Formats: sequence, structure tokens, C-alpha cells
Amino acid sequence: MIRVLVWNEYQHELSDERVRAIYPNGIHKAIADFLGDEDISVSTATLEEPNCGITAERLAETDVLIWWGHMAHHRVPDEVAYLVRDAVLSGMGAVFLHSAHHSKPFRYLMGTSCNLTWRETNDSELLWVIEPSHPITAGIDRVIRLEAEETYGEPFVIPTPDKLLFIGHFSGGEVLRAGCLYERGNGKIFYFQPGHETFPTYHHPDVQRVIRNAVRFVAPTYRQMTPCPHVRFITDEEPYVR
Ligand code: ZN
Repeated sequence: MIRVLVWNEYQHELSDERVRAIYPNGIHKAIADFLGDEDISVSTATLEEPNCGITAERLAETDVLIWWGHMAHHRVPDEVAYLVRDAVLSGMGAVFLHSAHHSKPFRYLMGTSCNLTWRETNDSELLWVIEPSHPITAGIDRVIRLEAEETYGEPFVIPTPDKLLFIGHFSGGEVLRAGCLYERGNGKIFYFQPGHETFPTYHHPDVQRVIRNAVRFVAPTYRQMTPCPHVRFITDEEPYVR
């Protein structure tokens, strides 16, 4: 059983009627609803919960963390972001969705600004599969067509992905490395671009399929912070680096 924790800042849904109409119970619940399966169990956490619903104990019982955030990245305490980063370094899988490219945990794991170009003009998007043999793109027929999505464009200031699985092409002409796979420490990380809150992107069956495939792919096969034997022992309780 893969234990998934879906984290969502859960702000737009409470303050914007357009978003609430698409995701009445929040983006986190929409993702939890399509993810739950015989081999995947799902729980959720949101920004307003104590400590953002994130503790070291909870992450220790999480195989894959999914993160959606946008307007409140700055309200996630550094200590929470470090907990997430260190859990990934010790082997927890992570899937960062859409505007989570600017979340603290993602930026701390990447070590770059993760800035990109964007505009909101109802462009359509073609998400082209780069690696059809990869488990994360399994079942996708060459391209995912999204009728409307927020435009993200290069330059996207990320480290060169270990594997690039999707390129997004927007009707306004921009392109973006839209499906990026990384390893950091013992953990696997997948960044997947679609999912602006005012569009029904997470109701799209192919987007759901990619996220489900990604959860199975980034789930850990090994879970331990690898120590450095001849210097002081670094425990899970002690953050790896600052
Ligand atoms: Zn957005």
C-alpha cells in the first residue's frame, strides 16, 4: 500500500467563487478522490492546520507527498519546508504540482529560484510526451490536450531534469519543461505543470493518470537518511543542512 499525503494551501477555494465551483471541497480533496485505489491510501493536509498539518512523524508515515500551493508560499514556515526537504532526502517521494514550482520545499530541493514566465490569458495547452516508455507517461497517447491552462514559459530556472517527460506547448507560443523528474538524496521528485486553480485540470482523466503513475513511480524503495560514517552521526531528528 502506498501512503499518499496531499497537501494544499486551500486558500483560493475559500476566497474565489470560480475556484470553489470547480473544486467545492478543495483541490486536495479532488486529488484524493481520484487517487484512492486498492494500492494507494490517501490523506490530506492544509496550510491552516497546526504546523501546516506536517510533522516529522506524519512524514515518516508518508510514502509520497503531493504539494499544491500558490498565494501563500510565504506562510509555510521554513521549519516545515525543511522537514519536507529532509524527508525527501531520506527517500520519501514527492510530486509538486503547478505553482508549487515556487513552493519553499521545491526550491530548497532544487537549489535555484525556480522562476518562470507566466500569463493568464486562457491559452490552450498541448502536453507532449517526451519519453513514451517511461512508467509516468504510461497510457498517454502522445499528447494531453488541455482546453485552457495558465501559460507558463521558459526560461524555467530549474536544474536540468534527470529526465524530461513532458514539454508543454501553449497556443500563445510559449513552451515549458512541464514534466520533470529528479532524484535528490534517496528520494524521487516529479514536477508536473498543469493545474491552475480556475480551470478543471484535475478533473481531466489523462492528468489524473499521470499523477497516479507518478505516485507509483516516486514511491520509495529505500527509506533512510544515508549517514556520513566518519563524522558525527546525522539523525532524522536533526535537519541535514541549513
Ligand atoms: Zn496558476
